[in-house]
Amino acid sequence: PVVTRFAPSPTGYLHIGGARTALFNWLYARGRGGKFLLRIEDTDRARSTPEATEAILQGLRWLGLDWDGAPVSQFARAERHAEVARQMMTAGTAYPCYTTPAEIEAWRAEHPNRPFVSPWRDADPATRPDAPYAIRLRAPREGVTVIQDAVQGEVTFRNDQLDDMVLLRSDGTPTYMHAVVVDDHDMGITHIIRGDDHLTNAARQAQVYAANGWALPVFAHIPLIHGADGKKLSKRHGAVGLHEYAAMGYPAAAMRNYLARLGWSHGDDELFDDAQARAWFDLSGIGKAPARLDFKKLEHVSGHHVAAMSDAALLDELAGFLAATGQPPLTPQQLARLTPALAVLKQKSRTLPQLLEQGRFALIERPVQPDDKAAAALDTVSKGILGDLTAAMQNVIWARDDLEAIAQRIAESNGLGLGKIAAPVRAALAGRTSTPSIFDMMLALGRDETLARLADATA
Ligand code: GLU
Repeated sequence: PVVTRFAPSPTGYLHIGGARTALFNWLYARGRGGKFLLRIEDTDRARSTPEATEAILQGLRWLGLDWDGAPVSQFARAERHAEVARQMMTAGTAYPCYTTPAEIEAWRAEHPNRPFVSPWRDADPATRPDAPYAIRLRAPREGVTVIQDAVQGEVTFRNDQLDDMVLLRSDGTPTYMHAVVVDDHDMGITHIIRGDDHLTNAARQAQVYAANGWALPVFAHIPLIHGADGKKLSKRHGAVGLHEYAAMGYPAAAMRNYLARLGWSHGDDELFDDAQARAWFDLSGIGKAPARLDFKKLEHVSGHHVAAMSDAALLDELAGFLAATGQPPLTPQQLARLTPALAVLKQKSRTLPQLLEQGRFALIERPVQPDDKAAAALDTVSKGILGDLTAAMQNVIWARDDLEAIAQRIAESNGLGLGKIAAPVRAALAGRTSTPSIFDMMLALGRDETLARLADATA
């Protein structure tokens, strides 16, 4: 069975690259009936506050990535990491190293550009002093370490370029590289999908697996995300935190679709839902070239998902968006006016703020405050026409055809085109001149609210 994991270091927020890494691991596991585990690499105690960890969990929850079991704390497992290092020392696959930092520096000065070789590696155990020591891996000095990477292909590292890495420091704390291997082994991880900035680490980690006789997981090192200019993504390219995308009003389903396509492809398929993503996702579809963040494409993907979403799902997203951006929730009255318009609004909006903007007519309360353009559209002549319309609509059946027929009749009787009377109606119903069609608004607002707003405007 497949077991994947996401192993973030709490940095205060979920980075868009981390979100994509998590998504790939989640998709891979969920598409294969496997498990997706979470490990918080919280050994940097200063940065690993409960808030920083919670921000990551919050990001994953928002993106809809559920994990199995409780998140594992790497820091809490320090004793286990030490235990494995000591076992390795007993087994001879690791050894105590008594060199001081000053001695290592002196050695380096004498051997420029060569990885450190500890004099204790081959020292007679009888000569070991009674002093603090670090535990180092007894790494192979000759030959090569080969990583068969599912994305990068075969990557070869010369062993004489890799030093005997420290597993346990002389103060008894494990090194990061050692902790990762012990954790991944104990957690039963079968596939490690992560950024290719960890590729060199994989060589060292493979040596620890080998030293313990543990089966090596499948590695898939994915290219990092770049900005539109092809440079490594940074804040100057725009938003890098997942929460910033949520605040811009991209629905989570759209982010899942967009992030899945960021470095992975399935033929020409650009737009897909979760079931398709789970069924299609495979390591063979991950590209070797860094993907570029493209806001135009994201908008396009987002528009597709907004349009495809059920009303209930969309209202859920809206509620989450309003809460996340510190706006009040929709009132029952607003919901009653907005919901009938959703089918139309979905087609016109690519993001949630765009939808709220398009649907603004349904959210405002009487009396409608016209903006400057709307006020200009409500001149005396127009008010007269609105009066006629209000009167004619008193007893009409509140259905599109009937409303259209009446508007048409009023327009003709005033010697005007329908377009000419639409502007004052927009102004009266929405307080602005750019809105969804007047009939869509009338149908969403209902008879009483529509007639009341028209009457307000003619008063
Ligand atoms: N904690 C590491 C990071 O945030 C990930 C380590 C790993 O995936 O092995 O970059």
